[in-house]
Amino acid sequence: MLEYQAAKDLLKNKTILVTGAGDGIGKAAAIAYAKHGATVILLGKTVKKLEAVYDLIEQAGYPTPAIVPLDLKGATEQNYKDMAETIEEQFGKLDGLLHNASLLGVLGPFEHITMSTVNDVLQVNLIAEIMLTKAMLPIMRKSESASLLFTSSSVGRQGRAYWGEYAISKFATEGMMQSLAHEYEDTVIRVNSINPGATRTGMRANAYPAENPQTLKAPEDIMATYLYLMGDDSKDVNGQQLNAQ
Ligand code: NDP
Repeated sequence: MLEYQAAKDLLKNKTILVTGAGDGIGKAAAIAYAKHGATVILLGKTVKKLEAVYDLIEQAGYPTPAIVPLDLKGATEQNYKDMAETIEEQFGKLDGLLHNASLLGVLGPFEHITMSTVNDVLQVNLIAEIMLTKAMLPIMRKSESASLLFTSSSVGRQGRAYWGEYAISKFATEGMMQSLAHEYEDTVIRVNSINPGATRTGMRANAYPAENPQTLKAPEDIMATYLYLMGDDSKDVNGQQLNAQ
């Protein structure tokens, strides 16, 4: 998939919401989507990071993005409903949603798991995803062709020792993806998941502190699959688990 070449105007006239758009893979995806013509809604926790991405997109001359500062850990169902209303007022519809924001939690023996970390990881990686998806589906139905994209991991497809709550959250995400893909198969909304693979970000460095980051692909290097799944070239792809590398 790394060799897929997205047309310059692949995402023209599309509005796409990216979570965790201030850093790492989400930042690269937001910029790649804007570069291919989309109006991107940048959702994230740290406003400064979102503003920096906003500026990069503006300076490059891509469509003006929007910023939604939101901490997925504390957000309520009402916050997501209000967000959907605002998006509908401003854009009329939503054509794409990339669930990208995640917490790694603490890696280690299962017997050392703490429930406060479990709660945080499941809140951000799963419960927030459920609430955001539920709120956005009605405005995604208004699109001619919408893509709902979840971010998984290799440990969301095959469990691994010491990956505790993070692996659990990614398996649940894959399950949600499959259920939604089945439920929405006769609609304009397709639902898939992507495993970015080892990528040079802060999260990866936390998980593998001894690794040389220069041996890894940068987020910008893995955007082909992110573009493919967001654009209409993947219109007939539904319920699939793709790898970006
Ligand atoms: P980063 O840690 O670099 O970025 C995560 C992003 O999520 C940040 O923008 C962060 O915002 C945001 N985020 C975290 N918590 C919250 C919150 N409570 N509310 C709002 N936003 C939040 O991670 P990556 O770019 O590496 O990961 C992106 C996705 O890819 C994740 O789903 C991850 O699980 C997955 N993945 C990554 C791999 C890798 O090798 N990098 C491998 C496999 C999967 P802020 O900076 O403001 O905290």
